Amino acid sequence: MTINLTSLNHGFVSLVGAGPGDPDLLTVKGYRVIEQADVVVYDRLVSAEILALASNKAEMIYVGKKLDFHCVPQEQINQLLVDKALQGKRVVRLKGGDSFIFGRGGEELETLAEYNIRFEVVPGITAAAGATAYAGIPLTHRDHAQAVQFITGHVQKDGKEIDWSAAAQSNSTLVFYMGLKQSGYIADKLLTHGLSQEMPCAIIENGTRREQKVYRGNLVDLPNLAKRAQSPALIVVGSVVSLHEKLDWFKSC
Ligand code: SAH
Repeated sequence: MTINLTSLNHGFVSLVGAGPGDPDLLTVKGYRVIEQADVVVYDRLVSAEILALASNKAEMIYVGKKLDFHCVPQEQINQLLVDKALQGKRVVRLKGGDSFIFGRGGEELETLAEYNIRFEVVPGITAAAGATAYAGIPLTHRDHAQAVQFITGHVQKDGKEIDWSAAAQSNSTLVFYMGLKQSGYIADKLLTHGLSQEMPCAIIENGTRREQKVYRGNLVDLPNLAKRAQSPALIVVGSVVSLHEKLDWFKSC
């Protein structure tokens, strides 16, 4: 028997970025689609205040890391979205930050596209933008940085390595996601590729949340700073970090 998928296909998936932590950083569009959802499939870094926007009739499905640190496999999440959409549900797939920045949003949408399921993307404020804004570290600045790079600190799929010589440009701000455990490796690579030991760097822990902490030092100190910091955290490397002392507005609020 052949199933005509398009005739069954009345569901809809909104891929929504919840922003980095402070629930007020959710977009108005994100707010509206969450309120109207039949099903919300959400990750670990989404705040309780944002989840509470969903209707009390909505089915809430957690697919983040469990207490035993095991993740729901990506294929299972993709299939869940497909199944719920094929049942005609309005599904919100809710992720921390922005779904297209180290969020596997693209992979999930590719599966939906294969099934002819309609979808939309609601962008979110990515951790690099949110956390540096709240830490008073402008990602670019005419006197300091003409470019910014968002880099994963995770070992790459298929062993693909980061282009460290492209990263180690002194006029570029570098933001490492998921880099806390790899901080020694990151510092080593940047130093070997020519960045100065004195290059300012910061680790921003729990960016935009009330518990936000900023650890400041130089590149050579990065592994020691990382020992004090907790996840979720971003590593920022570049001379813009020196502006933090002057522009640090959030802790004084
Ligand atoms: N899609 C997300 C990133 C997911 S990867 C986004 O756009 O922000 C998860 C990594 O993001 C964490 O390991 C950490 O490096 C970073 N991160 C997420 N939330 C953060 C926060 N509130 N403060 C600092 N780093 C954060």
